[in-house]
Amino acid sequence: MEISVLETEKKRIKPEDSKLGFGQFFTDHMFSMDYSEEKGWHDARIEPYSEISLLPAAMVFHYGQAIFEGLKAYRTPEGKIQLFRARDNFARFNRSAKGMCMPEIDVDFVMQALKKLILVEKNWVPGSDGTSLYIRPTMIATDSFLGVRASNTYRFFIILSPVAAYYAEGFNPLKIWVSTDHVRAVRGGVGEFKTAGNYAASLTAGTEAVEAGYAQVLWLDGIERKYIEEVGAMNIFFLMGDKLVTPELSGSILPGITRYSVIQLAQKWGITVSERKISIDELIEAEKAGELKEVFGSGTAAVISPVKEVRYGDKVIKIGDGTPGTLTMKLYNALTDIQYGKKEDTENWIEPI
Ligand SMILES: *Cc1c(COP(=O)(O)O)cnc(C)c1O
Repeated sequence: MEISVLETEKKRIKPEDSKLGFGQFFTDHMFSMDYSEEKGWHDARIEPYSEISLLPAAMVFHYGQAIFEGLKAYRTPEGKIQLFRARDNFARFNRSAKGMCMPEIDVDFVMQALKKLILVEKNWVPGSDGTSLYIRPTMIATDSFLGVRASNTYRFFIILSPVAAYYAEGFNPLKIWVSTDHVRAVRGGVGEFKTAGNYAASLTAGTEAVEAGYAQVLWLDGIERKYIEEVGAMNIFFLMGDKLVTPELSGSILPGITRYSVIQLAQKWGITVSERKISIDELIEAEKAGELKEVFGSGTAAVISPVKEVRYGDKVIKIGDGTPGTLTMKLYNALTDIQYGKKEDTENWIEPI
């Protein structure tokens, strides 16, 4: 399939790197393509970033067939641009598509489209320390129909947003809040897919956490409400004694690409990593026994987020002395060095543009 390019006449002014924040500014162009049963994916195009016109009956507004991905392009010290494990993101996108009864995309084709889009927008890839170009591939259902079934037509698009360093004020440890009233997902549901509704389902609990003075929610499993699942938009890791423990993929946890990368690096360094069930009570006991050394979240936006406190009902679990742990720092540095091309990519994770 050919990709047509229509360049905008009204180029926007790029904000300074110091003003970027997260997801506030978008580049001049986007990639789009459409799907119908007769034509499959068609009309692949790079076009000006602009409104999407949909009828009010478009199925995405009613029955929530909407999936997305989040990945980044990084500027290396030599000024080159590179992607981190992008194919893994599109492979996961296809698993989300299947899970939500939506058509899959061709990973090779979409990789080519993404690279072409980034080349058109290369001046938008910021270069100062810690900044990057956030990439948001999305698919929505576009049939205009109110009967409940899967849509027959879809729109796929990729938008780009230059983003600031996540830790502009230093590597700041988080306080997280265990929700006892709400659950995010259940086994057999859609928790392992990156679908919009999972975020809608998390907002009430997120608001409660913030009101109580905590940055994010730590979710427990939806059935027994005792096993730890993940944090807001991050997976979670615990250094217990000298073992790294993370919840096993239960079907209701999002399989993070940063999570896989952490497991791979830690194992390479000779650390025992165990993916298993871990209950909130075990965490409390481990802290009492002095075994809980470090806690951190993993996800594309922040890469690694140190955690200094977990609140569960009236119990407060403090981690270490409140500063980021040694392994937490080591993982953060190793991952970001590979992402920004400051160290050799020994794992074959980098795709140059
Ligand atoms: C995207 C996401 C993650 C992190 O995945 P990465 O691929 O590491 O960015 C974790 N949990 C949820 C719910 C997510 O949506």
